[in-house]
Amino acid sequence: MRTRTGLFRSETEFVKWLSARMGAKAAGVRIGIGDDAAVAKLARGADLIVKTDMSLEGVHFDPGLHPARSVGHRALARPLSDIAAMGGKPRFALISLAVSRSTSRRWIEEFFHGLVRLGKRFGVAVVGGDTAIASGPIFVDVALMGEMKRGEALLRSGARPRDLIYVSGRLGLSGLGLEALQRKRAVKGVRSRRGPLVGSESDEWAHAIEAHLYPEPRVALGRFLAENHLASAAIDVSDGLSTDLEHLIEASNVGARIWANQVPAPSLSRQQLNPDARRGPAPLHLALHGGEDYELLFTVPARVAARIPPAFRGVPLRRIGEIRRGRWMTLVNAEGHEAPLRAGGFDHFLRGGRR
Ligand SMILES: [Mg+2]
Repeated sequence: MRTRTGLFRSETEFVKWLSARMGAKAAGVRIGIGDDAAVAKLARGADLIVKTDMSLEGVHFDPGLHPARSVGHRALARPLSDIAAMGGKPRFALISLAVSRSTSRRWIEEFFHGLVRLGKRFGVAVVGGDTAIASGPIFVDVALMGEMKRGEALLRSGARPRDLIYVSGRLGLSGLGLEALQRKRAVKGVRSRRGPLVGSESDEWAHAIEAHLYPEPRVALGRFLAENHLASAAIDVSDGLSTDLEHLIEASNVGARIWANQVPAPSLSRQQLNPDARRGPAPLHLALHGGEDYELLFTVPARVAARIPPAFRGVPLRRIGEIRRGRWMTLVNAEGHEAPLRAGGFDHFLRGGRR
């Protein structure tokens, strides 16, 4: 960063601060931050997995809703979740950050605090990146490198008819958390059109806010599935179950049937979710189409399904459906009625981001 920014006195000061924040030299890093480029070593016989994710102010985060620490956490959680979905072990990250002159030094420190804290828990070393002062919104790009045993990556394309469909954790919590944050902000204003968060359901709202601000990538689960050759295909639920399932069945050239009563939706009634609205999204709708849950959606051949535990390290694994022939998705409701399921998750190219 240039001098006279009021952020850090100089780029050198910033790099020194970041290097100190990173602590001791991480395993596998020959040359980290401070030279022209980083040098790292990989395990013998490893494949390199590479992923990059942008986080843009006004698109991926809203400074009025997301604290800087959450922005840093989420910026790294997104590529971590992708490497988890491949069954890989995350290793090294490059962080590019553009901020404006009005961004405080405190915001940058908190951003890196959130990012580095999550990275350390998953063995990720920040080995470099780039910074710039720009006039537009805050822009973040995280490039993450991981590794895994050669040829063992979990792909989207391996699902076969009669495979069973599983999902980790719970779905729709992140969407519910965003709703809660928006309502809280509305309550602070002159009057709320959506109603406050009250009563016995407040624990679920608090849980959802945490899930939205600080999602937990399922890295250990991805590695467990890959190392034990249990999954025929996998994807992370970043855009919403219906949209990510569609990506998986398209890549595998198959179809899917989902059982609505098996989908792990938020434990709120429709009335609790929408106190003022006669019609509105039900918890199941959030679970099917809400994004940013960062759970793993994976398929398992029936012959190895008995080896999928009901929970992995405290995270429930739910069997929610089955793969079938024909390139379409259906949803079976509690009464056994089967209807088409359309992808209704997030897509940046669609107006409003939704179908
Ligand atoms: Mg993904």
